[in-house]
Amino acid sequence: MDCLFCKIAAGAIPVTRLYETEDVLAFPDIHPQAPVHTLIIPKAHHASLAHTAAGDAPLLGHLLAAAVQVAKLQGLSHGYRVAINTGSDGGQTVEHLHLHVLGGRPMGWPPG
Ligand code: AMP
Ligand code: ZN
Repeated sequence: MDCLFCKIAAGAIPVTRLYETEDVLAFPDIHPQAPVHTLIIPKAHHASLAHTAAGDAPLLGHLLAAAVQVAKLQGLSHGYRVAINTGSDGGQTVEHLHLHVLGGRPMGWPPG
C-alpha cells in the first residue's frame, strides 16, 4: 500500500478524523488554503475522479453528502467551495480521489 490517503484511511498515518462513515473519511488539509480546509476521501482507493465509473455513482454521492455534513459541522453557514482537482491539468497532486471543502472566507473566481 504505497498511497498516502490509503494509509490515512487505514489509520497508519494519524489524522484528526473530523467525519467518518463506512465509505468515506474527512480530515484537515495539512496545508490549509482557507480558514476551513477539509479533505474528504473514499476509504477505497480510486486514483482520481477520472478513474471512477458509472457504477461508482453511489460512492460519489456519499462523498458529496459528506461534504454537506462537514460544512455544517464546521459552521460554514455563509457558503463554501467543494473542489475535486483531477489529473495534471486539474492540479491534482495526491493520486487518491479527494474532495476539498474550503470555507471561512470568500472564494475567488475563476480559480487559478
Ligand atoms: P490536490 O492538490 O488536489 O491533489 O490536493 C492534495 C492535498 O492533500 C493538498 O491540499 C495537500 O496539502 C494535502 N495533503 C498532502 N499530504 C497530506 C497529509 N499528510 N495530511 C493532510 N493533507 C495532506
Ligand atoms: Zn489510495
